[in-house]
This record gives sequence, structure tokens and C-alpha cells, in this order.
Amino acid sequence: MDVQKALDIIEKWNFFYGQRAGRELWGDKPTDVQNQDIEDFKRDLDYIRQFMEELQQYRQVGTVEECRTDRKRSTPIPVMINGGVYKCPSCGTGRSVKHRYNFCPKCGQAIDWSKMREGEV
Ligand SMILES: [Zn+2]
Repeated sequence: MDVQKALDIIEKWNFFYGQRAGRELWGDKPTDVQNQDIEDFKRDLDYIRQFMEELQQYRQVGTVEECRTDRKRSTPIPVMINGGVYKCPSCGTGRSVKHRYNFCPKCGQAIDWSKMREGEV
């Protein structure tokens, strides 16, 4: 889906349906009612336009799957320690506890050292 194409379509609707077609279709309504209908229509279009512009900003950050993966990686996960060794809770890379990285050097997973536990790694 192309957000800019959708925004262009909304602009076209605004021109054709919000003004010309609106007045033709509702010609029997009083002018103040027509004006209110057109104003409501433009307000709704503006809402959709703003929503899509916001969506476009999110899409520039990355795909939904990429954002989900990044969010998961940036949420610290506690590690299990055994015999001075720990494994990254995401990729499983083993390291000595002498090197307490806050983020796994291999996969970028955030590591929560405040909740580390002794156990099988
Ligand atoms: Zn890792």
C-alpha cells in the first residue's frame, strides 16, 4: 500500500465529491445544509489525511515486523548464569560474566542484569 497514492486519491475525492458532486447531488437541500455537509466531508477527509500522514511516518521507520523485532530486542531480558557463563536469551551466544554487556554484541538483545539468576544456561 502506497500512502502517498492514497493521499492523492483523498485529494481527488475532496475536489470532486466534496464540492462539485456534493452540490449536484444535494441541490434540493438549503445552501446552509449543503455547506455543512461539505464542511463535514472535508473534516472527515482531513482526519483520514492526518491519520495516513502519521502512518507514513511509522512506515518510514520500518515494516511492522522490523519494528516488532526491534521492540523485542530493546526490552531487557534477564539472563541465567551458570559457572561464570551466561547465554544471550535471544540468540544463545555464550559469554563469560566478566563481560556484562547491556546489549548482546551479536544480536543486539537488551540484557537485564538486575534479575539474573543462577541456573542451567
Ligand atoms: Zn544475542
